[in-house]
Amino acid sequence: MVEQYSTVFMSTYVLAIHGGAGTIVKEHMTPELEMAYRKGLEDALNAGYTLLEKGGSALDAVLASTMSLEDNILFNAGRGSVFAKDGSQEMDASIMDGKTLMAGAVSAVRNIRNPVELAYAVMTKSSHVMLNGKGAADFARLQGIKTEPDDYFFSSSRRDQWKQMQGTNESALDHQVALKDKKFGTVGAAACDIHGNIAAATSTGGMTNKQWGRIGDSPVIGAGTYANNKTCAISATGHGEMFIRAVAAYDVSCLMEYKGLSLKEAMHIVVHDKLLKIDGEGGMIGVDAKGNVAMIFNSEGMYRAMKNSDGNREIEIYK
Ligand code: ASP
Repeated sequence: MVEQYSTVFMSTYVLAIHGGAGTIVKEHMTPELEMAYRKGLEDALNAGYTLLEKGGSALDAVLASTMSLEDNILFNAGRGSVFAKDGSQEMDASIMDGKTLMAGAVSAVRNIRNPVELAYAVMTKSSHVMLNGKGAADFARLQGIKTEPDDYFFSSSRRDQWKQMQGTNESALDHQVALKDKKFGTVGAAACDIHGNIAAATSTGGMTNKQWGRIGDSPVIGAGTYANNKTCAISATGHGEMFIRAVAAYDVSCLMEYKGLSLKEAMHIVVHDKLLKIDGEGGMIGVDAKGNVAMIFNSEGMYRAMKNSDGNREIEIYK
């Protein structure tokens, strides 16, 4: 009798998340605040990793982790987003599935509790990739996506950051505003599941005092977010204009695909060479389909964490 074997491909599964990069130095941090950030990262890591452990998809894991970070007022995404010049809080988000190359994104949305959930709905329930402003709000209503009043998104530290810049035409990354009590932002996740499928998601309130409907890199597929099973899944954070110009997330993928570089080698070149050459401050996290992970930044710090099925776990803030 010939025995039948079914071969099930099992990959090292891994989840990496970030809560923004920038001038994050220990001197500006109180022990309580540092603990709160670490707890926020830990909660978000657990939200996605629990799903991976149960055999869930990379896509569901990055969605869960990013939503957890959006719900945390410390991070500049969803609740706690920064203020635009007109005093509004406009948010951008995107998500991409490396298995199918399907993607969804929203830009300049207001009052959406979890912009990444709306990006996911764009990907799965519409024939489009990116929806903007009012149209995105109409679509959200049709899909029953949860909204919140302005008060929900408000935080006094973001208001103070904005007040410092009001009346100027400058806009600033969260971490560039000279505050004693510095708060940083933009969140994202990248994951590889047990089947070797990968996905990435990113969500942000953007830059303080941004104007004219400014949209950053976070909702731009290829710039702030990218995922392709053949190469990598990436979520970026930093000065969005430069990340768009560098097509940063996709460039990591290209270096892997066309030059045969590893995830770490490719990400290192993009973050420490290509982005730096155009003053692109920030960093990114990523995974590949073998479960390798990289978290690289050219700023003082980046809120970041990872956990994998080989028993590795890291939660870090500084260099
Ligand atoms: N990349 C985001 C943007 O430019 C900001 C950030 O990562 O903090 O909108």
